[in-house]
Amino acid sequence: MTVSIWQADDKQLSYEVDFLIVGAGLVGCAAAYFAVQAGRSVVITEMRDIALGASSRNAGFMITGPDTYYHRAIAKYGHDRARELWALSERTHRIWHGWIEQFDVPFDPCGSMLLAESAEEAKELLQAARALNDDGIDAAFIDGDPLERGYFAAVHQPSDGGVQPYALAQAAFRASGAALVANNEVYRIEQPDAERVHVYTRQYRFEARHVLLCTNAHSPALHPYFVGKVIPTRAQCLVTAPLPSSVMPTCGYSDYGYMYYRMTFDNRLLIGGGRRDYQALENDTTDDRITDPVQRYLDAYLRAKFPDVTAPVERRWAGIMGFSIDGLPLVGTLPDMPRVGFAVGFHGHGLAFGAGVAERAVDHVLKGVSPGVVSAARLG
Ligand SMILES: Cc1cc2nc3c(=O)[nH]c(=O)nc-3n(C[C@H](O)[C@H](O)[C@H](O)COP(=O)(O)OP(=O)(O)OC[C@H]3O[C@@H](n4cnc5c(N)ncnc54)[C@H](O)[C@@H]3O)c2cc1C
Repeated sequence: MTVSIWQADDKQLSYEVDFLIVGAGLVGCAAAYFAVQAGRSVVITEMRDIALGASSRNAGFMITGPDTYYHRAIAKYGHDRARELWALSERTHRIWHGWIEQFDVPFDPCGSMLLAESAEEAKELLQAARALNDDGIDAAFIDGDPLERGYFAAVHQPSDGGVQPYALAQAAFRASGAALVANNEVYRIEQPDAERVHVYTRQYRFEARHVLLCTNAHSPALHPYFVGKVIPTRAQCLVTAPLPSSVMPTCGYSDYGYMYYRMTFDNRLLIGGGRRDYQALENDTTDDRITDPVQRYLDAYLRAKFPDVTAPVERRWAGIMGFSIDGLPLVGTLPDMPRVGFAVGFHGHGLAFGAGVAERAVDHVLKGVSPGVVSAARLG
C-alpha cells in the first residue's frame, strides 16, 4: 500500500489501542470476540464497513472440512493434519452456531452434498466417503444421482447447512463488544520498538500493543510478506427470482468444488463458481466486478442442470477470496514485526474455518500458543 503526498500522515489524530484488528469480515469480527474474551480492549479498523468484502458476498455454505476431498487432504497434508483440520472446522461451526442462535441469524440445516459431474469424480467421492467414515465422520456415499439432475454420485454430510453470511458477520461483531472504526483504511504499519505498533490509517495513527491483520485477499497490499503466499481470486454468483418451490434440498457442490448451488431463504436458486476454465481472468485480481465468460458459464449451468427453473436471473455479483499458496489458512506474526499477527488465506472456506482460526490467531498473538496445522511457519 502506498500513500501519496496529499494523504499526509502528520494530519492524523493519534489513537491509543490495546488490541487493534484490521478488517471487519467474518474472521476479524470473530477474532474481536476472542480478544475481548481474553480481557483485551479491542478496536477494529475497516476500510469499508462490517463484512462488505467476501464475508457478505459468499454463497453461505457452512460446510465442514477442507477445500479438497478428504482423501485428497490426507494425501496432501498427512493424516494427522487432515484430522486436525476437520476438528478445527467442527469447532468453527460450534462457534458460528452459538451466534446463529443468540442473534437469530437465518440458517437452513439442509446438510451438504458433494456431487460428481463424471464417473471419474464419482470414484473420488467414494474414496472421500470411505476416508471420512474411517475417521468416524458422519458422511454417506450415494451411488447414483440423488437429485435426478444428471450427477453420477454424491456424498451427503448431514450436519452442514446454509447460512446468511452477512447477518452472521454482523452477529459476530455484536457478540464481540469491540469498537469499530469504519471507512478507515490502513496504509502502513511500523513497529518502532518491542512494545508498540504504529498503524497509519485514513483517520488516525493508531498506537497499539497488539495488531491482528484479518485482511484476507488484500493482505499483499499491506505487507510484502504476503506476496506470493496469498493470491486474491475472484468468485462469482447469480440468483434467480423467487421460485414457486424449492429445487435443491441441500447445499450442493460439484466439479471438485468449482460449482455450487443452494436455495436462498426466500426460495431463489443461487448458483456460483464457474471459474475453472477462466483462471487467467479470475486469479490475481482484487477487482470485484462480474465478468462475461464466467456469468455465461453460470447461465449455461443453470439451463443444463435446472431446465425446470424458468424464473429470470435477478442478481449477479462477485467477491474476492484470499487463496493461500497451499490451500490452508495462514496464522502467524510478521517476520519484521512480532507484535503484528495475521489470520488470512481462507479460500472458498471461510465459513468452514474462520472462527476457529481466529480463536487460534488470538491465542498465538497474546500467549504465543502454536496455531497448529494453520501455522504459517510451514511455509518457511
Ligand atoms: C462468491 C463467493 C462465494 C463464496 N462461498 C463460500 C461458501 O459458500 N462457504 C465458505 O465457507 N466460504 C465461501 N467463500 C469464501 C468466504 O467468503 C471467505 O473465506 C471469508 O469471507 C473470509 O473472511 P475474511 O474475514 O477473512 O475476509 P473478508 O470478508 O474479505 O474480510 C477482509 C476485510 O478486510 C478489510 N480490509 C482489507 N484491507 C484493509 C486495509 N488495508 N485497511 C482496512 N481494512 C482492510 C476488507 O475491506 C474486508 O472487509 C466465498 C467467497 C466468495 C467471494
